[in-house]
Amino acid sequence: MTSAGRTVYSFGNGNADGDGSMRNILGGKGANLAEMSRLGLPVPPGFTVTTGVCLEYLRAGSFPSELEGDVASAMKEVESMMEARFGDEANPLLVSVRSGARASMPGMMDTVLNLGLNDRTVEGLIAASGDARFALDCYRRLIEMYGDVVMGVEREKVYHPLLVEAKKSAGVKDDQDLGEKQLREVVSAFKEATAKHAGSPFPQKVEEQLWGAIRAVFGSWTNARARTYRRLNQIPEEWGTAVNVQAMVFGNQGDDCGTGVAFTRSPATGEKGVYGEYLRNAQGEDVVAGIRTPSPISDDGSGGHSLQSDMPSIHAQFTEIAGRLEAHFKEMQDIEFTIMKGRLFVLQTRRGQRTGLAQVRIAVDMEEEGLITKDEALIRVEPDRLQDLLAPAFDKVEKESADREGRIVAKGLNAGPGAASGAIAFSAEAAARMAGSGKERRAVILAREETSPEDIAGMAAAVGILTARGGMTSHAAVVARGMGKPCVVGCGALEFADDAASMRIGDRTVREGDAISIDGSTGEVILGSLRTSPSEVLQVLVSGTLNAEDSLVYREYEKLMTWADEVRRLRVRTNADTPGDAAAARALGAEGIGLCRSEHMFFEPEKIETVRKVILSTDDATSGKALERLLELQRADYEGIFRSMDGLPVTIRLMDPPLHEFLPHEAGAIASLAAAMGLSAESLTHRIEGLREANPMLGHRGCRLGITHPALYECQVKAIFEAACNVASKGVKPVPEVMIPLIGTAAEYRLLAQMVRGVAEEVFASMGATVPYLVGTMIEVPRAALIAGDVAEMAEFFSFGTNDLTQMTWGLSRDDTKSFLPAYVERGIIPDDPFQSLDPVGVGRLVELAVREGRERRPDLKLGICGEHGGDPRSIVFFHKVGLDYVSCSPYRVPIARLAAARESVADRRRA
Ligand code: ADP
Ligand code: MG
Ligand code: MG
Repeated sequence: MTSAGRTVYSFGNGNADGDGSMRNILGGKGANLAEMSRLGLPVPPGFTVTTGVCLEYLRAGSFPSELEGDVASAMKEVESMMEARFGDEANPLLVSVRSGARASMPGMMDTVLNLGLNDRTVEGLIAASGDARFALDCYRRLIEMYGDVVMGVEREKVYHPLLVEAKKSAGVKDDQDLGEKQLREVVSAFKEATAKHAGSPFPQKVEEQLWGAIRAVFGSWTNARARTYRRLNQIPEEWGTAVNVQAMVFGNQGDDCGTGVAFTRSPATGEKGVYGEYLRNAQGEDVVAGIRTPSPISDDGSGGHSLQSDMPSIHAQFTEIAGRLEAHFKEMQDIEFTIMKGRLFVLQTRRGQRTGLAQVRIAVDMEEEGLITKDEALIRVEPDRLQDLLAPAFDKVEKESADREGRIVAKGLNAGPGAASGAIAFSAEAAARMAGSGKERRAVILAREETSPEDIAGMAAAVGILTARGGMTSHAAVVARGMGKPCVVGCGALEFADDAASMRIGDRTVREGDAISIDGSTGEVILGSLRTSPSEVLQVLVSGTLNAEDSLVYREYEKLMTWADEVRRLRVRTNADTPGDAAAARALGAEGIGLCRSEHMFFEPEKIETVRKVILSTDDATSGKALERLLELQRADYEGIFRSMDGLPVTIRLMDPPLHEFLPHEAGAIASLAAAMGLSAESLTHRIEGLREANPMLGHRGCRLGITHPALYECQVKAIFEAACNVASKGVKPVPEVMIPLIGTAAEYRLLAQMVRGVAEEVFASMGATVPYLVGTMIEVPRAALIAGDVAEMAEFFSFGTNDLTQMTWGLSRDDTKSFLPAYVERGIIPDDPFQSLDPVGVGRLVELAVREGRERRPDLKLGICGEHGGDPRSIVFFHKVGLDYVSCSPYRVPIARLAAARESVADRRRA
């Protein structure tokens, strides 16, 4: 550690040892405190202990030897700037000890305020401030926070009931209405409770307080909720947190004091303006914890309190600082501040978390304001969050009828946009339990008085979050937006029963499990569940039910996507099996079909019977007739697809799945099929038995079917080319690419490719027309990747079937992972579910090999990927890097893939 350099960085009085670029060492909070201090903003002085010290402490269990001296001298500097001394009985300096990791983890780790108070210094503070109520309020907060964070005494269970009791016996509602005498009683009750529950007294030595808090904050890096948060947000365990020790300023010293949190743009919609809230005469956590419902920063026209009406000059100063910070960081800021006796102090600034809607709007607006470039705008939007713009909203008609029926029962703040209906749960545990997992998942709305970091798992399990208290910056709001979930907060009409089994809204009672809906875009709470309708973007692009001019969201989205298309190298296709899906995908920007699974067209009653006859018939006449019918049906399917994709390539995979998926299994179905085929039920059952497989995913499927049932493949190919010629004669431009699945040897490919070409030529000859086409293969059996060079001699394109390739490379049945794979990820045995995000090390190596050896033999080999990974932004990073030509994904992920691809091209430009 000693070798790792300095342990402590000071800031204050317009100076700082560090700066905003040093987040790795100082954490985000520390780096920005230093930066703000350098900018000359009113930041209380302090110092940051580095993340390196944290890692050393967590590893070795002790601090580097020089730390004690470094902290002591940094503390001296703060003392001289504040003209007070830590532990001084007449003029005590108080400090906060604040966590602060590289990435923001709101509320996940611990902070202790008012350190430096003890039985003696509190009297000094009373004398110095002339305000006993204030000093005692600070002291009781210190004992509570220190007891909780450092000594493990639970705030909710131990201290809060004592406070409630004190307020009750004093007959007051709010904490700040307690008088001196009552606060003295609270302080001694808190001390007693601490000693009783912790087994040792609250420390009176201020040095012991300081080091206890520093240790605890470092230790909080590994607490359960911080771990969960990191896992959900992919933050590495190895980063560690810094600790900031900072002189206290007090927002709880009267009505010319307060504390607040504000964004420079709306975190919900991205609209420009200062959005946030503040509490008069309050300290720190009060706003975020939702203890009282705060007032807005700016007047909202409701005639209620706001910072603007209460303290106009502070409001003006804050607005100016907010503007400066945003211009300086060129990014929407989330700012924490405190007002002490009419003086404004800034305590934190960071990049503001926001919904997908706000991400797009802010990125586009900032580009137009000249703050950032188009490239930067693209980098600012997380591809996955485009889902917020594509997600459904409540159906207008349904909502109107809910309104008429009086089912819109309450209104809170619209903290996280989107619509959600589900069964209501009143605790995080109930939400997690009711939501279930895997296929049995159920939609649950979590409703709480307020949420706290302990609720994180329940919030992750819920589809929407509803709280009675707190504002736009409350824990519930921040976390829900981070997770992209609809959220309504501060809905004062909710009254929760003590047993967490029901709540009342006016004269209605809602019980656990009842259906409820929340509209996070308007703040409405609605009884019962509501149908949803497509987002504005989809209404403009897909259904055509909304005009572009009428949707700001759409217009901003469209600008961003145009920029994305201008820079991206990777093409984006879609996986679509019907003309309707293909048309929707095209409207969302798909540049072709990367995977049309022909057999998905078979699962309609008439078609499936025809296919069954082909597979099971024993005489040529029956199968011949069935094939003819199949040809007609398929031809019509392909014509529809070619029309939808006029002018764009369509990759059609020949029949792939295991035979057994086509076969009837129930006696009734077998009997009727037997009758239709003129067979006895016994003999048909016997045939079906004969085709049974123990491990169908590795059995008689893919090209193996084509080789043993050539008539089926020939029929498909004939249908494809007849369809292509038919639509071509009507002015449509079909671009078929015939794809042979599950190739494992070059010989398989040779045989089937010859068949495809032969059939194509026959069709062209008989129809007196030709269309350009390609023949290629799916690379999904590991052996195919290993012999890719040989296959590329003959194949014009490869498309990586990464679902099967992952399954076979890992020897992991995709449908049987539920019972162990989550545990693997949880325990860090594997970093990710390889079916969700491509495994770059193992499966990726096969992909790279096939790309390299394929291109060596055939430089113009077309390369794509059509597995589920094609719509996963992290996998797209990999596909871009290995130089594929396109990715193909489900229609509604096409915009996400376009943006992900664009961001990689931008990243390349920046590396160059
Ligand atoms: P978090 O990372 O959870 O936001 P912080 O370290 O920012 O935790 O502390 C939470 C709140 O405590 C701050 O927003 C601020 O209101 C208050 N606080 C922290 N340090 C000080 C200080 N030196 N003076 C006054 N208030 C403080
Ligand atoms: Mg903070
Ligand atoms: Mg496959």
